[in-house]
Amino acid sequence: MQDLVIKRTDKPGMMPDEDQLGFGKYFTDHMFVMDYETGKGWHSPRIVPYGEFSLYPAAMVLHYGQATFEGMKAYRTVDDRIVLFRPKDYLNRFNQSNEKVCIPPIDVDFVHQCLKKLVEIDKNWVPKKIGTSLYIRPFIIATDPYVGVKVSDTYKLFIILSPVGAYYAAGFNPVKIKVEDKYARAVKGGLGEAKTPANYAASLKAGVEAKKEGFAQVLWLDAIERKYIEEVGTMNILFKINDEIITPPLAGSILSGRTRLTTLELAKDMGMKVTERKISIEEVFEAHEKGELQEVFGSGTAAVISPVGELTWKGKTIVINDNKTGPTAQKLFDTITGIQYGKIEDKFGWVDEVTKL
Ligand SMILES: *Cc1c(COP(=O)(O)O)cnc(C)c1O
Repeated sequence: MQDLVIKRTDKPGMMPDEDQLGFGKYFTDHMFVMDYETGKGWHSPRIVPYGEFSLYPAAMVLHYGQATFEGMKAYRTVDDRIVLFRPKDYLNRFNQSNEKVCIPPIDVDFVHQCLKKLVEIDKNWVPKKIGTSLYIRPFIIATDPYVGVKVSDTYKLFIILSPVGAYYAAGFNPVKIKVEDKYARAVKGGLGEAKTPANYAASLKAGVEAKKEGFAQVLWLDAIERKYIEEVGTMNILFKINDEIITPPLAGSILSGRTRLTTLELAKDMGMKVTERKISIEEVFEAHEKGELQEVFGSGTAAVISPVGELTWKGKTIVINDNKTGPTAQKLFDTITGIQYGKIEDKFGWVDEVTKL
């Protein structure tokens, strides 16, 4: 195991008002950095003061987008411990994304240990209010100064930390979603199952148009037939039809959400019928017509569970569960966050303690 070098800041910052945190606007005192060079591997792991760094204008990531990222959270529990939630599951997915864009794999166990050290050093940045958390953003960028298409020989891995506010400070707020029938986000064989910036670049224009029309998000359909449901782009999507939870399968164009995984495992444990299968948008609208569509909700690390109140497809809108949060979404949200904040016993081994306060 390589030695982790730690250089502490001599200008510690101040935690902003916990009611004003929002998402991803503030960063903690320190960050983790590590370099890669072909022949040498990942080297020089270090925790240093958070701040600017230098890069050549020719750095490959800026031109060809060879990059990956992750998003997970640390929580302050009700009994004053700092914990991570399924960190290795996120870091293993990091490597799945790396593989898709020819970025060399990281040593998951080593980076996990470095991450725990980083969070411990910045533990005072984990906000206290229930619903708040410390968002953890690991990412890798290709740094070769070369303006030509190839696989880079040098990379930088960073982990930065951001205290974030409660998503549902004012209670659940079911969202209006537009089913996108003009643009496509990803196609099987492409990058849809990698957490890579390109997928977000591909989704911006559709998102801007949907927002102008009054929608919060876009629900993507498969790019070939525009028929089968994929995901929301920041969240996976689940439907409750006739007491069965149905979600699209991981068939190559959607991200394997860790919250999706947690949600499916938990729902099964609760005795619900859970099915991963192709589901068409027609089927959802028909189920609604027959009165069989009970709930629709998204799953993602940021909001955990996000109820969908309305779906609009080709100008036709259906209202789900009277625009209210359904019992299944509520129960899953309460249980997942209950485990994360230490209010409910973790019988799954998902919680990973960083330190006691
Ligand atoms: C991160 C992400 C999600 C949600 O995944 P979680 O692991 O649950 O946070 C869903 N779709 C895409 C495209 C994503 O990048």
